[in-house]
Amino acid sequence: MMPSFLADFIGLVFPKVCLACEQALSRGEDHLCTTCRVQLPYTDYHLLAATDNPVARRFWGRVPVCHALSYLRFLRRGRVQHLLHQLKYKGQRDVGLVLGRWYGHDLALHNFHFDLIVPVPLHPKKLAKRGYNQSDPFAEGLAESLHIPWDANGLRRLEHTDSQTQKNRVERWQNVAEVFEVATPASIQGKHVLVVDDVLTTGATLEACAAALLAAGATEVSIATIACADR
Ligand SMILES: [Zn+2]
Repeated sequence: MMPSFLADFIGLVFPKVCLACEQALSRGEDHLCTTCRVQLPYTDYHLLAATDNPVARRFWGRVPVCHALSYLRFLRRGRVQHLLHQLKYKGQRDVGLVLGRWYGHDLALHNFHFDLIVPVPLHPKKLAKRGYNQSDPFAEGLAESLHIPWDANGLRRLEHTDSQTQKNRVERWQNVAEVFEVATPASIQGKHVLVVDDVLTTGATLEACAAALLAAGATEVSIATIACADR
């Protein structure tokens, strides 16, 4: 353990900054400053009945989803956009991990149960470029707090070769719907699977993942994202 005067000295030379607002962190603060932690736009949708939950409503008539959850509201130019930018483009994997831990803790407190967490897989080309799937650390943090396993390879995104540019919206959606498959159906059969992603926009990707999981034998599927954007 480093003596605290030494930690303070190192902190003066290389101050750790809040991942949301970039202000220097005080001692005892970790990853996010207290102000940001308090002021993040939490949805609290997990406290609502499914009929009142706007994220759940987004999946009505599309695919049966047990729980539809988003931790934060995505607001342009706000803290959440900054956090997600750090996670996706600045190599700040900890953003996903920390938010996953906090959200998992909240969900555990409110008696949410799942058997397995599966992140939405990234397209292999993007994965090669970015070095990691931004949904993985969120899955990992959630799994830690919920004390359940997560499987980075539970779903596979299949490479599709035909160009999407010539297609209309419905055809494009169908194309998205075809690109996921469950890697090992035996590993998800009979389970309540929580599929996770960074941001919820149209929900098409999560819908395709949920459908693939249900088709492969999952008993129930729930979805959770770090943030949800207005459509
Ligand atoms: Zn902050």
